[in-house]
Amino acid sequence: MSLNKQFSVEDQIRNKAKELGFNLVRITNAVPFIRDEKAAIQRLRKGFMGDLPWYTEKRVHTANNPQFLLDKAQSIISVSMPYYIEQKASLRKSVSGKVARYAWGDDYHIVMKKKLKILLSNISEITKKSANGRIFVDDGAINDRAVAEKSGLGWFGKNTNILTSSHGSWILLGSIITDLKLTPDKVLKKNCGSCTTCIDLCPTGAIVGPYVLDSRKCISYLTIELKGIIPRNLRTAIGSWIFGCDICQDVCPVNKSIPNTTVSEFSPRNTNYTIAELLNFLDFNQDNFSKKFKNSPIKRAKLEGLKRNVCIALGNSQNIKAIPKLKKVLKEETYIIKIHAAWALGQIGGTTAYKTLQNAYMEEKNEGVKQEISLSLKDIELR
Ligand code: SF4
Ligand code: SF4
Repeated sequence: MSLNKQFSVEDQIRNKAKELGFNLVRITNAVPFIRDEKAAIQRLRKGFMGDLPWYTEKRVHTANNPQFLLDKAQSIISVSMPYYIEQKASLRKSVSGKVARYAWGDDYHIVMKKKLKILLSNISEITKKSANGRIFVDDGAINDRAVAEKSGLGWFGKNTNILTSSHGSWILLGSIITDLKLTPDKVLKKNCGSCTTCIDLCPTGAIVGPYVLDSRKCISYLTIELKGIIPRNLRTAIGSWIFGCDICQDVCPVNKSIPNTTVSEFSPRNTNYTIAELLNFLDFNQDNFSKKFKNSPIKRAKLEGLKRNVCIALGNSQNIKAIPKLKKVLKEETYIIKIHAAWALGQIGGTTAYKTLQNAYMEEKNEGVKQEISLSLKDIELR
């Protein structure tokens, strides 16, 4: 008898997925996620999803109805990959620009899609028939968190992340929809209990209630998805985050004592940045940016978005070393970056920053930038 005959098809799929580096592998059936669809439509109608032109009610409907994603869909395989890495204490000290942990290594979309493609072809070998399937890695096409919950891979945390027993929420999700009929796993009977730590400690109040995120206030959305001006009233709370935010994960008690990932692609190559590195980013052109962040999730912020975020972090650092570079930016950069550079100078304050803003006001032609400079001058006067 061949070794594989001792294992069910589901176990063989699980084993293959684990060989590829997925730490958790669970299965659910491809029925609509009615509760999740209703909740997502409500969030969308309240405006909580922010300004994402692609995130429409039609998109939500499709993402929660697997039959629209694959003809004759029967089952969904939910997988996760751990990415937690402890940052060296020596590096933590000099940080002025922080990056969410998932973006320290290679882009997980690329890493996981490659491995899921291999898994899908392995499934056809295991079942000895060509299994139709589609793979998804966090692109909004399928509600992967609903899949993870239904399959028992994890449970919903009040911060809207999926929590797992072994790696907390320091995991990245992927899914395969297939027309194979597989035996589903059971939902986990776990929840956050009476804990509200993430809600209490979110610096912008973005978790407006248990399991409800107002993306418009979330630092992750503001620093990555929002292409434009970050609202003035949220800039201070962003602190030193230049790409994403990990606070509601860092404070979560389920996320304590998590082992470092062994996925080599997630080894840090960008972690957090010093003031000198942030100042250097302000000199980047498209070419430098594309080279530095090739295959990194950070490229999603785009050059203008990253420079905008860097200005905010420099303002919040209140480091006078940033004044000369902010002065240059205020003269030469795009409208969006100028607005945030003016704000940063207002936060740094002092005579040099004040004079820099006054001179910039005289030279500036754009009314929007002039208005921001006026507000920044007032910020200094009021201090
Ligand atoms: S990622 Fe940051 S800003 Fe967004 S909900 Fe979590 S703590 Fe709040
Ligand atoms: S911090 Fe508490 S409430 Fe928030 S996700 Fe973690 S366990 Fe749940």
